[in-house]
Amino acid sequence: MVNNLYLVTPRGFCAGVEMAIKALTWMLKIYDETIYCYHEIVHNDWIVERFKTKNIEFIESSEELPKNAIVMLSAHGTSPKTENEFNSLSSVQVNAVCPLVTKVHHEAKKFSEAGQQIIYVGHKNHDEALGALGVAPDSMFLVEKEDDLEEINISSDNVALLAQTTLAMSEWTPIMESAQKKYPNLNMPRKSDLCYATTNRQEAVINVSSKVDVVLVVGSDTSSNTKALVSTIKNLGKESFRVNTTEEIDNLDLKDKNVAVTAGASAPDHIVQEIINKLQPNETIYFENTNETEYFPLPKELRSNITTISNFLLELFPENKVEPVRSVNKDKQWSATEALASL
Ligand code: SF4
Repeated sequence: MVNNLYLVTPRGFCAGVEMAIKALTWMLKIYDETIYCYHEIVHNDWIVERFKTKNIEFIESSEELPKNAIVMLSAHGTSPKTENEFNSLSSVQVNAVCPLVTKVHHEAKKFSEAGQQIIYVGHKNHDEALGALGVAPDSMFLVEKEDDLEEINISSDNVALLAQTTLAMSEWTPIMESAQKKYPNLNMPRKSDLCYATTNRQEAVINVSSKVDVVLVVGSDTSSNTKALVSTIKNLGKESFRVNTTEEIDNLDLKDKNVAVTAGASAPDHIVQEIINKLQPNETIYFENTNETEYFPLPKELRSNITTISNFLLELFPENKVEPVRSVNKDKQWSATEALASL
């Protein structure tokens, strides 16, 4: 049993993850055929396994795709080349990329078309980094740590700096400052590439950290923003553990400690609640740092498909109230948690 448990808000699903989970759920409802999803739809083991029990196959290359397949592209963004490959083999393709990842792709395109060399700060082989680097492969350079800047040999006048959306602020800031010193005319987007969900979750754990002995971060090993939360806390000299399942807390010494619980942007809240039940705190304190209201609508092509099917059904059965029309218009009121529960 732990002493005080601080339940941190915001935690868990961000607007991009909400949209991607609901979009894939809609695909299951519309199509009987297998849906091929490029990359994990979001980086959470429980969610991926849940979809695998339905008619979803997660693939890592267009070579795994049968002809005329139904395809969904994940929230992390896809390079233009890969998107074209998938498009040429699919009969239906829906792109569930988060609009904040698309923003980085647009910046990469804009800077490269303006003749800039682009330093992209991100994690090698992460799905989001692979997609972004594919926007301008001949003029983008991946940097993971400050030292990597020394390895890059590019003209100092035409350089831009972009980032993966889910970095820890403590990873990003030193690299940005070093790059600004090395390239005094460095171009950067007006608004940071680190997304609101990443920074809000990090600021919340920084603010709660002085009240607790340990911070538990619920999320999978594949989730970059989850690992960024753990490293943010560890950088403050505080203990922090990533936990993916309730079983994983069995080996942690949390007895009588004050514990904060948060979750990465792709972690379902039922796992958070199960962990809290198992921790049996003396008292639960709700620590609300920021109230998030962001909402991203379903991908345009999916909204259009749902509306077409709904209109067709309405024409055939005008006496019926067709649920899809009402649902797609009320998507904001439907949560990803409800979508997952409907599977
Ligand atoms: S973590 Fe940020 S960039 Fe990634 S899906 Fe969520 S809102 Fe979009």
